[in-house]
Amino acid sequence: MMSWKECVRQVEPYTPGEQPKEQNVIKLNTNENPYGPSEKVRHCEMDYDLLRKYPDPAASDLVNTLAEYHHVDPAQVFVGVGSDDVLAMAFLTFFNSGRPILFPDISYSFYPVWAELYKIPFETQALTEDFRIEPSDYLKENGGVVFPNPNAPTARLLPLEEVEKIVAGNPDVVVIVDEAYIDFAPEGSSAISLLDRYDNLLVVRTFSKSRSMAGLRIGYAIGQKELIACMQAVKYSFNSYTMNRPSILYGCASVEDEAYFRETVGKIITTREWFTKELKALGFDVIPSAANFVFASHKEVPAEEIFRKARERGIFFRYFKLPRIDNFLRITIGTDEEMKTVIDFLTLDIMHKK
Ligand code: PMP
Repeated sequence: MMSWKECVRQVEPYTPGEQPKEQNVIKLNTNENPYGPSEKVRHCEMDYDLLRKYPDPAASDLVNTLAEYHHVDPAQVFVGVGSDDVLAMAFLTFFNSGRPILFPDISYSFYPVWAELYKIPFETQALTEDFRIEPSDYLKENGGVVFPNPNAPTARLLPLEEVEKIVAGNPDVVVIVDEAYIDFAPEGSSAISLLDRYDNLLVVRTFSKSRSMAGLRIGYAIGQKELIACMQAVKYSFNSYTMNRPSILYGCASVEDEAYFRETVGKIITTREWFTKELKALGFDVIPSAANFVFASHKEVPAEEIFRKARERGIFFRYFKLPRIDNFLRITIGTDEEMKTVIDFLTLDIMHKK
């Protein structure tokens, strides 16, 4: 007789960044936005009586709002519970050929977890020495491609022409471009502009970073209608009501406040550029960032030591003890005040300078 224990799906789960219970910390470890959602979200009236009813399974209000925002047809938009949900659904929908899917060796660490969960074979492609994605690495036979742009945790942007080489070179499989951080990149970097020309391209976005709504869990994908219809079919075979009423309501309100969105994204970019300059002055190597975080290492002081000492001071960074990146710190861009405190800490407590 077989025990149920032999029939359990074996998974090595993704480890999310720490969410400390203490209030008085500088939390720069999960790429959250320091500014909070728009006033339009804060002042949005939620009709609590409506919570007794199921939400719209198609989340049409949010889908239509996003379609208008991105100048696409509503049938080209898929919404989900954070981009993690959207990405997981896309893996389940599109990566079924039995051939290995391709993604970078240094990348979002959830990709191998979903691949294992769904029993999708995968092969990682090494980033170059300076942590660039090399498009020609993705032109071999494969069952699909997925990569973040800008990449995480490196923060490096792959120029749109290079993204297009990967999409154009893989007409028979789906290429997923995970644009969680694209709003912090120069304008014109998004693969959404390629969608008219490629039926195999899926662009995934989130409200967690640039829209400062990680706590609400909203993500979406845009692609040609046929791709989106395939994802809908899988979603409705899994859970019809993924988007709850508050998410639909607050999500729409956020998209309607473009001025606040631009202002806060602009502030984060300005702070990022200042912080990068300060880090370099302290002897850090910083990869050019197109995201709301930087990836940095120091020649003399090990990243793990800085990570540990910062934590003792109530400053949280993200550290990955992984090959090639175990001497790097990933530091989210917070407010100017928070980043000044970080520079003071690094100057005094790590570099022992005055
Ligand atoms: N993609 C990348 C590259 C990320 O860093 C994250 C954040 N952990 C996500 C997707 C998922 O974000 P969310 O589920 O909050 O939309």
